[in-house]
Amino acid sequence: MCRICGSTVGEFFDFGRQPLSDTFPEPDRVDDEFFFRLAVGICESCAMVQLLEEVPRDRMFHDGYPYHSSGSARMREHFAGTARRFLREELTADDPFIVEIGSNDGVMLRTIRDAGVRHLGVEPSGGVADLSRAEGIRVVTTFFEEESARRIRAEDGPADVIFAANTICHIPYLDSIFRGVDALLAPGGVFVFEDPYLGDILELNTFDQIYDEHFYLFSVNSVRAAARRFGFDLVDVQRLSVHGGEVRYTIARPGTRPVTAAVEAMIAEERERGMLEHTTFEQFGANVKRICGDLVELLRRLRAEGKRVVGYGATAKSATVTNYCGIGPDLVEVVYDTTPAKHGRVMPGSHIPVRPASGLTETQPDYAILFAWNHEEEIKQKEKAFHDAGGRWITYVPDVRIS
Ligand SMILES: [Zn+2]
Repeated sequence: MCRICGSTVGEFFDFGRQPLSDTFPEPDRVDDEFFFRLAVGICESCAMVQLLEEVPRDRMFHDGYPYHSSGSARMREHFAGTARRFLREELTADDPFIVEIGSNDGVMLRTIRDAGVRHLGVEPSGGVADLSRAEGIRVVTTFFEEESARRIRAEDGPADVIFAANTICHIPYLDSIFRGVDALLAPGGVFVFEDPYLGDILELNTFDQIYDEHFYLFSVNSVRAAARRFGFDLVDVQRLSVHGGEVRYTIARPGTRPVTAAVEAMIAEERERGMLEHTTFEQFGANVKRICGDLVELLRRLRAEGKRVVGYGATAKSATVTNYCGIGPDLVEVVYDTTPAKHGRVMPGSHIPVRPASGLTETQPDYAILFAWNHEEEIKQKEKAFHDAGGRWITYVPDVRIS
């Protein structure tokens, strides 16, 4: 049943049994892993693409949540730019106030703090929340929902901007989120969020964007329908090139802002591209199967030839690839990653060991699968020595390639 409107959800792909994508077990603790059925479908009524099974939020977003938004220079620049835009265009009233849902390690709010503007991060994962707090950013460690939003409103007054990046698509209970936004947002304020875009996922076959945390895969059509259902208007959309293609949605109270032409244009484009039709999603499923078949065949051949193959980037995305395709330590001996909290642990489900990224050039394997393909340029630049010494990158979206 659709989490937004209650209609039937037509399943279009089943990735089978999958682990939590951002929980890296210690090598001797792999028996405790939590698994669920990762299947995805589209609502026959409101077209919202969503998972069919929900993972309890406390299992995903806990004090040991290992993802740090500040890990990439490009993302730091992206969020600094976002903050500057808010300061210039939205936070211009007397004593303005901005709230960020899922503020992670404070990558966006840092710029707001520097400007001396009132702010509050709402971040349930204690580890990353503490990092931002140590930098003088104001954070409350809790989940954003109707109740916590009412509390913030009572203590801090209305928010001119409520922002969220790569967070709203994580939250199944959008009804409570919107009621919270309704309680907290100033009359003329905006609720702005950016998340992976379904149109890019279909076009680039980036099936690994589908994992436990990505409960919704948003389109402009489905977000507009949801906004209207909860008493708001979608007033602007903007395409972003980060994380493999995202859209930034701007939502406001009805009648408070003009709706830009970009909204209608993207809705028309989605209709033309068949993004409301089941056959489009069946084709996507066929592409996923083909990519996995090609990737496993390549890895088996390279191993048979005696080549050393590693992974690069112990991303949440890589959990879907390794577990759905059945890639374990027999095909990929180790995954290199820059996050210290993941070192010495193993990949969820597949149990491939995770080691510090310096190992790539120290051990100079023959091939490295780039699991963090959303940071491809930045990583290839940083690990140039690997390629210069004859190492080759394997990417698998939109299809399997060696470079
Ligand atoms: Zn629906």
